[in-house]
Amino acid sequence: MKNTRKRSRFLYLFLVGSLVGLTYFIYEFSINSSYWVFQPFNKHLSSQMTDGGKIIDKNGVILVQTKNGKRVYAENPDIRKAILHTVGDGSTLISTSIQCRYVQEILGYNLITGFGAPEPLNRNKDIKLTLDGEVCAKVSNAFKGKKGTAIAYNYLTGELICSVSLPTYDVYSKPVFTEDNDGIYEGVYINRALSASFVPGSIFKLFTTAAMLNSRNDSENITFECNKIKIYEGEKVTCMKNHGRINLQTGLCKSCDIVFGDIAVELGKDIMLKEIEKFGFNKEIKVDGISLSRSKYDLEGATKADLAWSGIGQYKDLVNPMHMLMVMGAFANGGTPVKPFFIKEIRLSRGDTIFINSPSVYGEMVKKDVSDKIKAMMRNNTKNQYGDSMFPGMKICAKTGTGEVGEGKEPNGWIVGFSEDRKFPIAFVVLVENGGFGIKSAGPIASFMLKTIKANSTIK
Ligand SMILES: [Zn+2]
Repeated sequence: MKNTRKRSRFLYLFLVGSLVGLTYFIYEFSINSSYWVFQPFNKHLSSQMTDGGKIIDKNGVILVQTKNGKRVYAENPDIRKAILHTVGDGSTLISTSIQCRYVQEILGYNLITGFGAPEPLNRNKDIKLTLDGEVCAKVSNAFKGKKGTAIAYNYLTGELICSVSLPTYDVYSKPVFTEDNDGIYEGVYINRALSASFVPGSIFKLFTTAAMLNSRNDSENITFECNKIKIYEGEKVTCMKNHGRINLQTGLCKSCDIVFGDIAVELGKDIMLKEIEKFGFNKEIKVDGISLSRSKYDLEGATKADLAWSGIGQYKDLVNPMHMLMVMGAFANGGTPVKPFFIKEIRLSRGDTIFINSPSVYGEMVKKDVSDKIKAMMRNNTKNQYGDSMFPGMKICAKTGTGEVGEGKEPNGWIVGFSEDRKFPIAFVVLVENGGFGIKSAGPIASFMLKTIKANSTIK
């Protein structure tokens, strides 16, 4: 009797234990199964994508779809190449691409049937982008073999219209790497707009200007003295020219290095760091759920000359292009940017809309009065330095930059800016890696991109 009771107690405990375990498993399964499915060990799901919903551009142009068990990409090879980093190539190599990050939606995974459920249980989803494939194709070609990125967005709605990253390739003839083409395809799987940061050079002077305007009420009345060379504690900082006596606005317009070196040294490390970080430097920023490569401002161990160079956009300064685009959105909008996005809608291939994106703000980067002063200075740059003829009828506010990268390589050429005309609410960033002077390398691409957007898009 005693033995039987012992045994039944044991069985009872065993049963309860099993039930608890099973309940826990079912709970975990229902919560996490889709997560488990998309773990790296199940990489083959997206690396051999043969099924799934469509991705279309803002005008309905098909960027990828499934036909007879195959993923078929845009008909136009220029569009295929231009949107490669956004759409992906059906493998997991471009990790920020939509076919990687939204594989669950595109393939329509669900808990009951898993993948590939027959109609009407099929949960494949189509994704509509904000990008204009044709604009992307034209802008991508304008790089003429150079590396870099060009992005443009509507700073009122957040919709990205153009986003290209170079180098790229045609998904139908994937590159085979050899020693000879190593340089051509350097970083080809990286979307440079999202996942890389670059030496900013003089575009950084916008941040130094903001730091100055925020910290000193008399900023606009102060004059600086540029004699081409300035020595800080025995270390030299040099300017392109001898600008003589020069104020902040003209300093920005002529991009005088001594002005911005002096400002950084005058304000000191603590104020510079505090002011620069207000813009999102050294922080994680997400766009459409993707963590951008961080923009960095690091003064650790900096000498006085290093501090001066940091205000000029050299030293250890790094800027992420998409973050820079948000900053342009901030100056266009009185200090608070609308966040950029490129997923417009997600809907079931059978019709029901699941998700529609809408504008959201990032938070204040800079106070309105300071933002508006910088906007006026950027407008002055275009009028008096770059020339309005580059951007006919667009009222462009801009800043160019030439980021010295060392190692005997040509510097990075930048131009960043926006149209102050709210009927053409476009902000833009163009970076040409090792392109030389910003105005000569990135300037013509920006001019071409904006004219193309004006001609192609519904924003006219
Ligand atoms: Zn100077």
